[in-house]
Amino acid sequence: MSELRWHPLLEEWVTVAPWRQDRTYHPSAEHCPLCPTRPGQPETEIPEPDYHIVVFENRFPSYTGEQGRCEVVCYTPDHDSSLGEQSVDHIRDLIEVWRDRTNELSRLPNVKYVFVFENRGEEIGVTLSHPHGQIYAYPFLPPVLQRELAAESRHMRKTGRCLYCDVIDGEKDGVRTVLRDERWIAFVPPFARWPYEVHLAPTNHRGGLIDLDEEDDVSFAACLKGLLQKYDRLFEKPLPYVMAMHQRPPGRGGRHHHFHIEFYPPNRTLDKLKYLAGSELGAGAFVLDARAEDTAAELRAL
Ligand SMILES: [Zn+2]
Ligand SMILES: [Zn+2]
Ligand SMILES: [Zn+2]
Repeated sequence: MSELRWHPLLEEWVTVAPWRQDRTYHPSAEHCPLCPTRPGQPETEIPEPDYHIVVFENRFPSYTGEQGRCEVVCYTPDHDSSLGEQSVDHIRDLIEVWRDRTNELSRLPNVKYVFVFENRGEEIGVTLSHPHGQIYAYPFLPPVLQRELAAESRHMRKTGRCLYCDVIDGEKDGVRTVLRDERWIAFVPPFARWPYEVHLAPTNHRGGLIDLDEEDDVSFAACLKGLLQKYDRLFEKPLPYVMAMHQRPPGRGGRHHHFHIEFYPPNRTLDKLKYLAGSELGAGAFVLDARAEDTAAELRAL
């Protein structure tokens, strides 16, 4: 089991999981553990010759047993593909999988939060290039969500409105909009901390994956694909990113939370990355050399 250590100054948990040192590091394509098992070849994590979408427990988990769960979601059997290259129908199936796992993991006794995310690209520290995401079921409410929920509750008390609905309302003029349809919007928020940071959110108030209806799903899949395609066209190469789904926690907490997905690509330009350094890491103060209005216009035009 991992050890949870309390950081008394920041008032947050640090998880110590030393066995993660031994995890598979950049295997070649023919030794990829996330590919289907080829006939006559050693068994991969998936003992089948083919699959559609697969979920299994991470072999090198940060949380396991009583503490929580770490799962791997393989988007496709195609090693050289990506999330953005999947069809809208396939992404809808994936949304169904994310929702199903959220439901399932929320029911585990000690789970306080289910976090769906993807790390993409070596720049982000990805050790397996096969298109996949992850799901962490945490034994505590992670600090970012805790702060968002607190801000949302304060805003609700003060104004009677959802904070994030108001944020979306502020995007009416479209200058920071990357794409939108009747149900979802992708925009570079005015408070972005990364040059090409994008938020993708339902324009109607929804708390999480389990609150989306069928039409929301269709639009979600199409907008997610549209955004990821723009990302890959930006520098004409697969753009690395972190995709972080901020859905409401299980149970009654977070009633005022508005579902949104945050994307942080580390690139400033084709070959320059933004590194977290003194101000960001040491003081928690992000400094940005790009305007949201300009990067949004760039992405919108693609
Ligand atoms: Zn593979
Ligand atoms: Zn809302
Ligand atoms: Zn958020």
